[in-house]
Amino acid sequence: MIKGSCLCGEVQYEAENTSGPMAHCHCRICRKAHGSAFSTVLPVSAEGFRWISGETALSHFESSPGKRRWFCPKCGSQVISSRDSIPEAVLLRAGSIDSGYSEGAVAHLWVESMPPWNTLTDELVQFKRGAPGAPPGVEDEHGVESDAE
Ligand SMILES: [Zn+2]
Ligand SMILES: [Zn+2]
Repeated sequence: MIKGSCLCGEVQYEAENTSGPMAHCHCRICRKAHGSAFSTVLPVSAEGFRWISGETALSHFESSPGKRRWFCPKCGSQVISSRDSIPEAVLLRAGSIDSGYSEGAVAHLWVESMPPWNTLTDELVQFKRGAPGAPPGVEDEHGVESDAE
């Protein structure tokens, strides 16, 4: 079981580990939302996901139509995102994971959106945009399903 929480601890969730693959998303929207070079995301099934605490306190921002980024309003931690058109999946914002997941990321997404001060030095596969054949819920922030070039 994957367990996760926000920075202040008010929001907690757990998710069955029937997930993957994990990926690093470098799209502009993830960078802005997280205030970081990229966001690491892990899709899990919505059926196996549940809030343990703080659900009623959650806020969200709809960063593109139907794409909702859920965060704790007290500490600002982004914990998950969801997409209205893909109700069967939830995207964990991997930085919020506390335990229960140890596999690594498999890809870099949206590398065409990377800022000039970021460089990739690992061997993971890179996609200019979203991943082709990506499972439901994998980042396709610009509303483009699996639109790699
Ligand atoms: Zn919090
Ligand atoms: Zn993204």
